[in-house]
Amino acid sequence: MKFKCDFTLEHYFETLEHAQKEFQIGPVKKFLKKQENEKNIFLRHDVDFSLDYALELAQSEEKHGFYSTYFILLHSDFYNPYSVKGREIIKKIVSLGHEIGLHYDTRFLSNDMQKSKEQIKNQVLILEDISSSCVRSASPHIPSETQKIGVNLNELNILNVRGEKILRDVFYISDSGRYWRNGCMCNHLENQNNIQILTHPIWWVENSRSIKKQLDLFIEKESTNFIYNIGDYKKMVTRLLTELNAPKENLEI
Ligand SMILES: [Zn+2]
Ligand SMILES: [Zn+2]
Repeated sequence: MKFKCDFTLEHYFETLEHAQKEFQIGPVKKFLKKQENEKNIFLRHDVDFSLDYALELAQSEEKHGFYSTYFILLHSDFYNPYSVKGREIIKKIVSLGHEIGLHYDTRFLSNDMQKSKEQIKNQVLILEDISSSCVRSASPHIPSETQKIGVNLNELNILNVRGEKILRDVFYISDSGRYWRNGCMCNHLENQNNIQILTHPIWWVENSRSIKKQLDLFIEKESTNFIYNIGDYKKMVTRLLTELNAPKENLEI
């Protein structure tokens, strides 16, 4: 089997469809129930940029019959899981059959171990509340730039997908920075029995040809969203000011 490797959904799904002849494919929580003689692929996505892209990928995966784990940041510079829209999208991803995990950022954790444990517990509770689902897995955001987590997540009954046990038993590959360090995901099906595949939705959903092109598309998409949200605000405030019989010049918005 030799595919043309690129960052397209076509390649993502042809690889998984080929793999499913031999592998059980599913979200990372399946690692906890892994059988000895089974071949497994654990699918995971770190949602670093956009919940819209995450939902698009979640819908495509569901159409193809694949389910994975979407790791959500509570401290993103680019999206807000607490917003009405963010919450709706996260619940939708769950309703499609995917798992939600906590994408933690250690820059928001205390150096005091006990405090930091409480903070992780709270973040899990918040994400469970937002997603109306059970959160049992966690992944670190930009581990290359941030401190390693001090808390032992096992003690909190949380699977650390970068923890020692899973990394020992399961071959790990990632597309971070839109670059496969050890070659494309399709290259490892023949020589590994268990694989954790981390992909970031942004690099896949638009079938883009470069990191630059993808980031430009993201800026365009977010500007449109922003203009739309401002439009909503204008409508709301116009209704309010009209009801209040505000002077005409106040309605020039
Ligand atoms: Zn490939
Ligand atoms: Zn991340």
